[in-house]
Amino acid sequence: MSTVAEPLDNFEGMPVLAVGIELPTASGGLNEALAVDPDTWHVGDEATIILRGPCKKIRYEPLAKVHGLRRVHVFGIEQATVVDDDFADEMLAAQAERIAESKRGPLDDELARSELTAAHEEGAHDDEDGAVELANGEIIRCPKCRTEPDEAE
Ligand SMILES: [Zn+2]
Repeated sequence: MSTVAEPLDNFEGMPVLAVGIELPTASGGLNEALAVDPDTWHVGDEATIILRGPCKKIRYEPLAKVHGLRRVHVFGIEQATVVDDDFADEMLAAQAERIAESKRGPLDDELARSELTAAHEEGAHDDEDGAVELANGEIIRCPKCRTEPDEAE
């Protein structure tokens, strides 16, 4: 699963904030082992494997802590091949970086806002406006504090 930097389309009126993939037929369990060029690995060995297959199903599931959905793509696997570990190093590193960056994306913003709203409802912002600092240094202010004018003033 990874989060996305920009919000995706809504589904049934709910924002789609994350995407994921599932590979239920990637072999193992009841599935046949996929044929690959002959090689031998030992327990604990790592391999870099490329998989190819069509997206067969899409499902939306609710996220645990925020009002939003994850769009899960279920892929079938028709081919697999083992490649040199070096082959994908750059792509995997770049993806890991994008995922780390997106951690401060709409999902985190949404989470921060819903936590602020909950704290606001509990009266935690009675004395001063609520705000949290995200990992990237950006400050998110409580949406409730901003919409309700301070009655004391
Ligand atoms: Zn507040």
